[in-house]
Amino acid sequence: MHATLPLLAATDFPAIQRGRLETLQVNLGYRCNQSCVHCHVNAGPKRTEVMGRESIGTVLAFLGSSGVANLDLTGGAPELNPWFRELVTEARRLGKHVMDRCNLTILAEPGQEDLAEFLATHRVEVVASLPCYLEDNVDQQRGKGVFQASIAGLRRLNALGYGAPGTGLELALVYNPLGPDLPPPQEGLEQGYRAHLREHYGVEFTRLLTLANMPIQRFGSMLISKGQFRQYMALLRASHRDENLDGVMCRSLISVDWQGYVYDCDFNQMLGLPLAIEGRPRARLADLIGRDLAGNPIAVADHCFGCTAGQGSSCGGAISG
Ligand code: SF4
Ligand code: SF4
Repeated sequence: MHATLPLLAATDFPAIQRGRLETLQVNLGYRCNQSCVHCHVNAGPKRTEVMGRESIGTVLAFLGSSGVANLDLTGGAPELNPWFRELVTEARRLGKHVMDRCNLTILAEPGQEDLAEFLATHRVEVVASLPCYLEDNVDQQRGKGVFQASIAGLRRLNALGYGAPGTGLELALVYNPLGPDLPPPQEGLEQGYRAHLREHYGVEFTRLLTLANMPIQRFGSMLISKGQFRQYMALLRASHRDENLDGVMCRSLISVDWQGYVYDCDFNQMLGLPLAIEGRPRARLADLIGRDLAGNPIAVADHCFGCTAGQGSSCGGAISG
């Protein structure tokens, strides 16, 4: 795979600082039952890196001692971490809102047959990737058969009340473009998704989040191989809007890797750009317990234009309307 950081490090992206911390995003490891083309963590079934019990304990200690409201669990397939359910149960007991970035196909994996019920019982928000509502496009990006397996997963969640108004069981779908283009406007695309999924599959969801592909890891490497890296970066830069700077997720989120190190966001984690505090080049979550990060500078590079291009893109979808 081609390295992208050398192409991104020299940047004129504006300097930005952290605000109030609202979300702790935890990468529980790189194991996944899928190996998607665009995956920015290069996850797959053969990866062995998973967060251990000690770091899970630190996550819980941090949640218990900070005012952070949300725990955002990601991977790989976060559910494949052996302590996933314990972490969710404890975080909910602490009153935290828990989000599971679920790939949907995991719901039918051997040993995970009761996962959907577990998530519903603990009122976990499910955030699920469905990069298109057309079968061929999804299978092209995520692997053969993934679309139908994803629909089966969505139906299972719907049957438990996910996506239905009034249940409080939120089911967000995540869209990202197949190729080196910006996502279309979120609102119009959401209407298209809703109509198609309802009509053809009887599937309901709460909202659609549109995300731009980041020019890093597997997707960035693919752009380099195809000679499209510079062109895609030029598109992101040309589409930058200053008004999106306030909404970028790194202002209110920290991202923890499976070894307990902390980054300003998931993308920085994948690029190996750590969160630095008080001259220390690299911090662990344990170092941040009891510390206020507001005002801390954010580590930026050229990939950050992926967050501010067009409608903007954060882990919560488009930033501006
Ligand atoms: S399902 Fe998600 S984590 Fe797994 S390979 Fe695909 S994009 Fe990566
Ligand atoms: S890539 Fe990360 S650090 Fe850069 S603007 Fe986006 S969220 Fe912030």
